[in-house]
Amino acid sequence: MLMKRLIVTIDGPSGAGKTTVSRILARRLGYRYIDTGALYRGVALAAISSGLSPDDDSGLKKLCDTLKMNFVRDEKGSRLVLNDSDITDHIRTPEITMFASAVSARPVVRNFLLNLQRDLGKEKGVVFEGRDMGTVVFPNADVKFFLDASQKTRAQRRYEEFKSVNPQSFEAVERDMRRRDNNDSTRDLAPLKPAEDAILIDSTDLTIETVVDRMMAVIETIH
Ligand code: C5P
Repeated sequence: MLMKRLIVTIDGPSGAGKTTVSRILARRLGYRYIDTGALYRGVALAAISSGLSPDDDSGLKKLCDTLKMNFVRDEKGSRLVLNDSDITDHIRTPEITMFASAVSARPVVRNFLLNLQRDLGKEKGVVFEGRDMGTVVFPNADVKFFLDASQKTRAQRRYEEFKSVNPQSFEAVERDMRRRDNNDSTRDLAPLKPAEDAILIDSTDLTIETVVDRMMAVIETIH
């Protein structure tokens, strides 16, 4: 059992397995798990509802000033609450996915979420999943992972995960994913890339259990 409460970061592209792995890892450590992509999706949902375009910086600034987002736990697990509404089941549509990627390039949105994420890390004992957790939000995190997988594998996983609720074909899922990977890794601010001190894991041919076991083995060496 680990005595020290750490900040663990897991960055990587979509479909690499971050969410599943982070959840299991947090449970095994007795930590909180924070899905920071959900926060970008929350901003996207609010912006779409307000009729904003993703590059309307002054509109986004005004919007962020009014947003209160938090994760709460209930019998269904971790829920994202935005201004008193549970939005967890409304943020995974293809429209919100692409809009989140677009607004995530805007400094005003990143600054707003930077503070919120750091506040969530104050208590320690948290697994943070995202794109810039180890590079920008928690550069002094105790353990940093960068989880990747081949483009084909990631698209296949995303397609399987959402095929019952998402009418998109495999080709459309793969096309959106490629576009989003490109947006996320080429933007000026906090682009997706491994931190210099991140441990790289390629999950293409690994089971979830193997990935989690490898992470646990690393974490156990530093307490
Ligand atoms: O992880 P998820 O696919 O839910 O993230 C949605 C979008 O939010 C990503 O495509 C990315 O543009 C953005 N994001 C980010 N930084 C993070 C987490 C997510 O830019 N830390």
